[in-house]
This record gives sequence, structure tokens and C-alpha cells, in this order.
Amino acid sequence: MTWFYPQGLLVCGLLCVAGVLVLLASLLLTGWRGLRRRKLPSWRTAACGLLAALLGVLGLRVLVAERGVTGGYAAIDARMVLAYRPSTLAPAEIPPGFLLLRGDLHCHISPPDEAYHVSRGLDSTLALARSEGLDFVVFTPHIWVPSMWSAAYRQEILDGHRALVHELATRDTGGILISPGAEATDDSWGHVGMAFGDYDRALREVTDNEVATHLGDFFQRYRATGGILTIHHPLEQPRGLPARFFAVDMSWRPFTYPQLAAPEQIQVVHHIATGIETYNLGVSEMKDWAVTGDRESSLREVFARMDGEILAQKRKIAATGGSDSHGYFLRPVLFVLARERSLAAVREAIDEGRTCVRDPAACSFVARKPGESWSPAGASLSNTRQLEIQVPAADATILRNGQAVASLPRGQSHTLSVPPGECSLVRVQAHGGYSSPIYVNCEF
Ligand SMILES: [Zn+2]
Ligand SMILES: [Zn+2]
Repeated sequence: MTWFYPQGLLVCGLLCVAGVLVLLASLLLTGWRGLRRRKLPSWRTAACGLLAALLGVLGLRVLVAERGVTGGYAAIDARMVLAYRPSTLAPAEIPPGFLLLRGDLHCHISPPDEAYHVSRGLDSTLALARSEGLDFVVFTPHIWVPSMWSAAYRQEILDGHRALVHELATRDTGGILISPGAEATDDSWGHVGMAFGDYDRALREVTDNEVATHLGDFFQRYRATGGILTIHHPLEQPRGLPARFFAVDMSWRPFTYPQLAAPEQIQVVHHIATGIETYNLGVSEMKDWAVTGDRESSLREVFARMDGEILAQKRKIAATGGSDSHGYFLRPVLFVLARERSLAAVREAIDEGRTCVRDPAACSFVARKPGESWSPAGASLSNTRQLEIQVPAADATILRNGQAVASLPRGQSHTLSVPPGECSLVRVQAHGGYSSPIYVNCEF
């Protein structure tokens, strides 16, 4: 029955709600006494409503029991049926010399994640990734940083990682590129995504002394083995009426509480992270949708923060995306312009900032100094007062250092004046997608 999940949840849920509404309407129109006297047609309408509601409840119970999930997770899975689906780009809209790869940098999986926390295993994850058209996926089971003082816990997460790698080697991924990484989770300070590096080695070499005094070396070591670090859901704090359901502060505290003295490893990650998760599918589709009704509100907020951080730290930072899926849903959320179809090329693209999130239309963004060749997101252009911009895939909004400065109709070019001697981060929003910046007149 898995094929009918989670769409079946939505159908049964709607049947249930419709049935209850019909029943209530019948009661209001005829009253209880009218129904008892079997006044037509209301008593029949009421009976139909009751039957529909009961069928809906029965269907929900069967589907939830069959998947073995809690009601809360089933509700999230049903809501996610309606989550944003990205468009596709025509080959001519992809900057020349690159492949557009669609993926997810933040996907939980059980095991190693706890079964009560994540309801999806390896085989259903691979099946979902195939059906949603993903080219790459990074598995990010939680590792709990405050528990890393325990050598036994470190061994436990190392064993879990090795078991996942072993299982993965026995599966045909159907060409999907998979990187088993982790989400280093510290609910007091923030969550860090780890992808593409030698996790086994970085963890194997952790010592008691390192955990006690300089855990930043664990992250530095992972980075040195070709790994990238990303700051997950950096502004995610409980807000609005639904705060009681989203009550955990998962923000990156150096952003939200800069006055606090962060532990050494948080300070290290803050300055070496390759990317910031500007798009978190769960935050957009659950929290933002419920609190503001605007699924892109956190996206814009995090992008503005990222622009500020790039200018303050004077280094490139890429926009990244993650589904943060703990249940039966996945989407392509991060799009990269890679030089070939390999994990190394995906990693390189993120490292160099050739990324966009939510929709690939923003990855068609290219710019150049007048008369020179076109460059995609992530490029550095210097010594110029003017920038020619194209976004072939869609109408676009051009932003400079977070401010919208021009609208660009599809198929046209725009020439933007940029101040010489001042760093301009130029990004675009197009068809629900957001690009990483092109760096103009920046020293880095
Ligand atoms: Zn997280
Ligand atoms: Zn997560």
C-alpha cells in the first residue's frame, strides 16, 4: 500500500473534513429534531457526511498503521504532498560548459537516525529520490555534539555510519550520487551539515582531549579531507501561534545571539562553513506557510543575512538547500552547475558558489563585464563600473547587496551600474528560485 502513501493521507483527510462539514451543515439546517423525524433530504445528507467521515478516519488509521508512523509525522507527510515542485530548464537555458544537477544536502535516514525520529529507511529513500528526479543526495543523520565527550557514543555513531556505507554499497542507486554525511546537532548553539568528506577518518581521530578543549579540529579535519560544512536553518526560532508546535530554537546562535561567547567549534565552523542553508523545505512549507502564509519569507530573510555575513567575513559563502526530511517526502531543493556528473563535481560547484535553491530558473543567471564572456553564479568580476546580466529561463528580479535594483523580463539583458571600489553581491530571484551571488569588485 506504500504506493498510496502519502497521497492517500491527503485524500482520506479531505474526505474526513468534508464529511464532518456536511454533517454539521445538516444539523444546522434541520436541527437535531428534524433529523430524528427523518426530514428529507437532510437526514440522508447527514448520514452521507457521517459515512464519509468514518471512511476517512478508517483510511487514515490503515495508512498510518501500515507505514508505522505517528499521527504527527503522517500529518507532515500529507502536507508535503503539496510542497513546491521545481521546474525544469531547457538545455539552452543552462550556462554553457555546465550540467545542472538537482539534489538535497540535508536528508535524514534511519538507521542511523532513531526510528522514532525518522520514519524512512535506505530503500524507501532511494525509491523516493528516484521518483522525485534527484541527481544527488547527502544523508545527514543527527550526531549529538554534547554527547561526543563519551568515547562509547563516538564509537556508536562511527559504527552507524559504517553500517550505512556498507548497506549503500549493496544497493543499486540507479545513478543517483549519494554522500553519507551527518548533521552535527547542538540544540544550544546550532546545527552543522557535513557532506562529501572522509567522515570515518574525521570521527575516528577524535580524542577525549579534543572534545574537551578544541572540537573545532574535528570540523577542520573533515574540511581538510574534502568535506564541506553548511550552517542549517540558521534563523529558525519559535514564532507566532504555531510556536508551540515548533518550539525548539534551531538557529545558529552566532547569528541570533551574537552577544554570547560561542564554544570553540561553533566559532571555527562560523568562519570556515562553505554554505548557508538558505532554503529549508520544512521551514518554508510548514513554519512559514502556517505562520506568515508566505512560503518564501524565511528564504529572503536568510539570504539577507548571508549577504551581510559575506561582506562582514570578506569571503565567499554559497547558498544551499535541504529538504530536512524526516518522513516520506523529498524534493530537489539545491541546484548546482557542475562540470561533470560526480560527487566531486557537485562538491566543487558548491565550494565555488555555482548554486541556486528552490527552483533552477535562478541558475540560468549569468553576468559579464561589457565585451567579455558570460559567467554564472559564484564568479568574481573586478574593475568594472557596469555589469551585463541575463536570466534566460524566467522573468527575474536583480538584487545588489540584498536590495532589489531592477526587474529583468525573460529573454532580455540588463546593464547594471555598480560602484567601483565597493563590493557588490549581485543575485537574482526567478520563478521561485534564488541564486548565489556573483561577486563584483570584491577583494575576495
Ligand atoms: Zn537541524
Ligand atoms: Zn536536519
